[in-house]
Amino acid sequence: MNAERAKVAVRGVVQGVGFRPFVYRLATQMRLNGWVLNSAQGVFIEVEGDRNVLQSFLLRLEKEKPPRAVIQSLEFSFLDAIGYHNFEIRFSESSGQKMVSILPDISVCAECLREIFDPENRRYGYPFTNCTNCGPRFTIIEALPYDRPQTSMKRFTMCSACEREYHDPGDRRFHAQPNACPVCGPRLALWDAKGTALAEKEEAMVRAIEIVRQGQILALKGVGGFQLLVDARNAGAVRRLRERKRREEKPFALMYPSLDLARRDCHVSELEARLLLAPEAPIVLLQRRLPESVVAPEVAPSSPSLGVMLPYSPLHHLLMGDLGIPVVGTSGNLSDEPICIDEYEALKRLEGVADYFLVHNRPIVRHVDDSVVRVICNRELVLRRARGYAPLPVHMKTTLPSILAVGAHLKNSVALSVGKEIFISQHIGDLATNGAFSAFCKTTADLPRLYEAEISVVACDMHPDYLSTKHARRMPAPLHPVQHHFAHVLACMAENELENPVLGVSWDGTGYGTDGTVWGGEFLRTEEDSFQRVAHFRQFRIPGGDAAVKEPRRAALGLLYEIWGEAVMTDAKLALMAGFSKSELVVIRQMLSKRVNSPLTSSVGRLFDAVASILGLRQRVTFEGQAAMELEFASHSGTEEAYPFDRTTSLPSIIDWAPMITEILIDLQKAKPVGIIATKFHNTLSEIIVAVARAIGVFSVVLTGGCFQNRYLAERTIRLLRDAGFKPYWHQRVPPNDGGIALGQVVGAALAAAQQKRVKVS
Ligand code: ZN
Ligand code: ZN
Ligand code: FE
Repeated sequence: MNAERAKVAVRGVVQGVGFRPFVYRLATQMRLNGWVLNSAQGVFIEVEGDRNVLQSFLLRLEKEKPPRAVIQSLEFSFLDAIGYHNFEIRFSESSGQKMVSILPDISVCAECLREIFDPENRRYGYPFTNCTNCGPRFTIIEALPYDRPQTSMKRFTMCSACEREYHDPGDRRFHAQPNACPVCGPRLALWDAKGTALAEKEEAMVRAIEIVRQGQILALKGVGGFQLLVDARNAGAVRRLRERKRREEKPFALMYPSLDLARRDCHVSELEARLLLAPEAPIVLLQRRLPESVVAPEVAPSSPSLGVMLPYSPLHHLLMGDLGIPVVGTSGNLSDEPICIDEYEALKRLEGVADYFLVHNRPIVRHVDDSVVRVICNRELVLRRARGYAPLPVHMKTTLPSILAVGAHLKNSVALSVGKEIFISQHIGDLATNGAFSAFCKTTADLPRLYEAEISVVACDMHPDYLSTKHARRMPAPLHPVQHHFAHVLACMAENELENPVLGVSWDGTGYGTDGTVWGGEFLRTEEDSFQRVAHFRQFRIPGGDAAVKEPRRAALGLLYEIWGEAVMTDAKLALMAGFSKSELVVIRQMLSKRVNSPLTSSVGRLFDAVASILGLRQRVTFEGQAAMELEFASHSGTEEAYPFDRTTSLPSIIDWAPMITEILIDLQKAKPVGIIATKFHNTLSEIIVAVARAIGVFSVVLTGGCFQNRYLAERTIRLLRDAGFKPYWHQRVPPNDGGIALGQVVGAALAAAQQKRVKVS
């Protein structure tokens, strides 16, 4: 009844080491049905059973693996059960096209780690130690096949000792392309802010550690680009970093020297610990233990969670091992730009930000940020997909034409289909800056070149003004625009292997609708290669348009204007919207009454903004999603109550939030705690989803869009949908935010192509 299917892809040294028999024994011992298969891309496993049993199967897979097996990457997702009757070893598909998959950058393995801390070893203290099982991959590959002359290691000639390892089939470094040692490999150097070399190798490391201890800002050339490091306990130092980086309040990520130290400041579940220690080594959002934390409040102001990662490269291990304290480890850029990858470029771009630079001479071929994940419903949810994840593909059931998708505007990433695989690029960022746009152009050229793909279709967003859309138009292949919220739904369907029809609940901040208005609170029923918009939120105007995204109070004013019209402009009601000047109000009133520069939106993201403003939580934001985050943080499971709402029975059904807003204002007047009101607001949204699901009557409900990064909303909705007899689905290894759009665009274009073929045949 409650059986699920875990789909697992294991990459690494898993062939010829007794891995398949081990999987067979483990699965049968745990009474799980399914199969295991060896293929050119790794070992694939599917097992079915109760969720808890599957979780422990996955943990045991890692813990009890055969001694010679090395897991470089263990991807898993939970899907619907198929109903296997036994467990079998399947035989490799020897036919079919051999797909080369490029591995992501893998965190250092246990053996290499032992070597760098062993004074007897020739790699003692060497920060660029790696082997066949670990080390840089995606960030050093210039072209396929993956051979040293095609990587950024080509400039280093192996010494005779390394050469011997490289050619010895019995050695762990047999054909390890980035193989290196202190004699022949890349070297560390410490530079001052002008680029003057102050020290080399071990001495550079020793002095860099001293620099961080003293509270200065160190720019570190890591695996996929520069990070800025600063002592996380030092409030003054963290504040200085904020000022220089021009990043006001957005939480900084932290790197802890060890899991034990992270546990002192944060709650870490078994799954979260697994994620922190996984080869992907992402930043994991953890619940902090207040107020014991040693971390300065400036690190993540007013946030009950902390983004935490553990050292993942030998360089980080050496640095953090000696430091022994948590440090801020934030991307080496100015706000909203892509991270620097080159030390000379970093000197210029991080001028006035970093005090010192700890650099090395191994070129980084492409920027790859640290990934960010959070656990929702006891499952991994990727929020930023980069190091450790990119460019692993999403596997499809059918062969797709070669489609390049250019993504959306915010949190951009691009995707490419090759055969049955859809490769998703690393996170690129918001295309608002020149730097991000040129990184985007580079990546759209890079991905097809790497996989030698002849693009047959370019998929893009419907928004005519997105830079990504404009760029797509200039490409030679035919264009296929995919509606933004439909792309969100398709991405989630692809990840969960779902077929039509589903009810897609696609909620985010903004996306161009088929009617030219701004969508963002959509219910889409999927069919063939398209969708029907079966319900959406009542629209309201945002005075100031795109610029107003930075001011939730404008969303609030637009929302109240929609209910009360001109009456909202009387003083008593305006008191709600803190801080508008008289002249601002005159302009806003004109915008609203004349309907100029105040686009209509059905966005749930803007509804979050409006409610955060009305509750006095936040009037202006300094980063995307801040108001919604604070509303989420204010919520707790203290009440089951919800507010009323209206819903028309037309198609599309219009969901009216006005009754809810009226009640919120009454609760405010009664001086009900903000936490209770925020919780009731979230509860109402979950109930709206259940009500629409009941009205539409589609069993599978897909939750997608940036709003479902919200843990309270996601978990409650999932529970209510299940209680009501529906089957909810949400994201796993592809972000629910716009980082997942490119995947959905590829699927959208592929569906359209398949549909065209069908029409032609009949
Ligand atoms: Zn290793
Ligand atoms: Zn060497
Ligand atoms: Fe979106």
